[in-house]
Amino acid sequence: MNPTMNDVAAKATRRSFALRLAGGACAVACVPGAAWSATRVEEADETAVALGYKHDTKKVDAKKYPKHAATQRCNNCGLWQGAAADPWAGCSMFGRKHIAAEGWCMAWVQKPG
Ligand code: SF4
Repeated sequence: MNPTMNDVAAKATRRSFALRLAGGACAVACVPGAAWSATRVEEADETAVALGYKHDTKKVDAKKYPKHAATQRCNNCGLWQGAAADPWAGCSMFGRKHIAAEGWCMAWVQKPG
């Protein structure tokens, strides 16, 4: 059975509606540079505890981590994925969660250059 003009028009209208809906959703969620708030690491998270992560490098236990220096912060670590001025950003040690610029963990490594 061949489709009628009404069937073709209805199908085209449904497709057009779906495309407009997708476009509308993208207008909300796909704006270039739009802020996306990632989940932040909690100091009590299993990985954070294992790495001795603290949101504030000044609160790192010096006895437990004698090689830690107060000048070592996430935003001068080689694994920091943000800009120097970002307050929170990604780190390959914590997957999709963000860590604090002023934070620290035992995986700290001097940022090259
Ligand atoms: Fe911060 Fe570096 Fe540890 Fe990541 S690896 S949490 S950037 S000190």
